[in-house]
Amino acid sequence: MIFYKFGNKNQSNFPMKITYPYSPTSFLQKSTPFLLGLLFCSSMAFAQQSKSVIDAMTNEETTNSQLEKMAHELLDGIGPRLVGTPQMKQANDWAVAKYKSWDIPARNEKWGEWRGWERGVSHIDMVYPRVKSLEGMQLAWSPGMGKKTVTAEVIILPDVADSIAFEQWLPKAKGKLILISMAQPTGRPDYNWLEFATKESFEKMKADRTVLTNAWKSRISKTGFTAKTLPLALEKAGAAGIITNNWSAGFGVDKIFGAYTKTIPTVDIALEDYGLLYRLAESGTTPKISIHTESKELGKVTTFNTIAEIKGTEKPEEYVMLSAHFDSWDGGTGATDNGTGTLTMMEAMRLLKKFYPNPKRTILVGHWGSEEQGLNGSRAFVEDHPEIVKNLQVLFNQDNGTGRIVNLSGQGFADAKDYLGRWLKAVPDTIKNRIKTTFPGQPGGGGSDFASFVAVGAPGFSLGSLNWSYGSYTWHTNRDTYDKIVFDDLRNNALLAAILAYMASEDPAKTSTKKTEGVQWPVQVKATRLGGY
Ligand SMILES: [Zn+2]
Repeated sequence: MIFYKFGNKNQSNFPMKITYPYSPTSFLQKSTPFLLGLLFCSSMAFAQQSKSVIDAMTNEETTNSQLEKMAHELLDGIGPRLVGTPQMKQANDWAVAKYKSWDIPARNEKWGEWRGWERGVSHIDMVYPRVKSLEGMQLAWSPGMGKKTVTAEVIILPDVADSIAFEQWLPKAKGKLILISMAQPTGRPDYNWLEFATKESFEKMKADRTVLTNAWKSRISKTGFTAKTLPLALEKAGAAGIITNNWSAGFGVDKIFGAYTKTIPTVDIALEDYGLLYRLAESGTTPKISIHTESKELGKVTTFNTIAEIKGTEKPEEYVMLSAHFDSWDGGTGATDNGTGTLTMMEAMRLLKKFYPNPKRTILVGHWGSEEQGLNGSRAFVEDHPEIVKNLQVLFNQDNGTGRIVNLSGQGFADAKDYLGRWLKAVPDTIKNRIKTTFPGQPGGGGSDFASFVAVGAPGFSLGSLNWSYGSYTWHTNRDTYDKIVFDDLRNNALLAAILAYMASEDPAKTSTKKTEGVQWPVQVKATRLGGY
């Protein structure tokens, strides 16, 4: 059923029927007031129609938002979406089914292959000098230990004089679990110190922490290895496992990335428990812990982008794109990185299909794979679809948390101010008045998937969110979960994305991709098509 249809060739009054013969000049002279009037009427008509589309979308998002339901299905039901895991593919299939339920054609498009891996359980317990369950988890791609539980003594990476001394020490790693991260001097975030500490003690803590941080860096470098190669050296020497603490500078948060070991487990233990083990080991009471981690290697698996499409009626070969990466790290459920961007764009597509089902231009959405390992899904799409990239009216990407959109940069495109400004005018004040625009801005060289498009001169833009403590509390952390989503902000963003896509699709003109003179442009980087090995 068609709710709103305009700007459609079949129903349009243009071109006007003209009877020949006629003199173009006299026709224009006679008709100018009429033509101007018609243009005025048509722009009035568009203003009215756009208002009714935007009002309908606003009403739908206010009264019938699907964001909570989708967030629960995706984040609680499927969970995190690490590249190469069965959950990533499950999410791809879930999104395709969701689009189909809205009558929007969707497909999973292969872009590459990755090491297949599936996370199993992580159980970590201190068994000596007393019993305590510890908060921690194996890092992504940590090797599977089958049903085997490793119980061993915990020791601290020694502070050696140089790489020769480290080689001499290495046999002592055999059979031990090695703490390879520094013990933080405080588990309180700086904002908490700022609020309650005396100025002197806050300054002293920060100075101590800097000394400790530098000393730990030097401890690692003196081994002759790097943070990446050290775990492998310890593994080769017969260590039983690697223990890290990648504190994210907030209460209870750790960043959870990937393991480098091939045969022994690598786990991250939360600051509180890591500090406990460290102090015990340091004081001479060598603690013992049990680590039980399971995971499965699944061989080489195919990786996908999920693409959905509402076909254009008048300029189907021109494209308006919504964009958000679909993959995540897997310490939490990837709720704000980038579940929120994903859901924002899905909800925007639902609004567009319902209230603007016959767009002038084709509206596409790209849910990218493996952004976290280097924008791989979107870079591959840019390489594989030159026809879309060449005819891109605009692309809007969102990928920095749950917050309402407050920043929009022109990415160095000379004329972005004209068209983005024109489209923003249609956005309700409550949404647009919070957005700080920067024109012409600088072209983004990375950070998220819009950069894959900007790199080839295509008009990709980033909808920048308010941060909601994104960097410390949710980005790549074990606490990036459903409860951190601010749904009112998400509704705001879904509506904004839908309105911008609608306005971009309706714009009579193709956007200019002229670059601002004198601006250094980033270079295109090739997608990694086979990763994880
Ligand atoms: Zn992200």
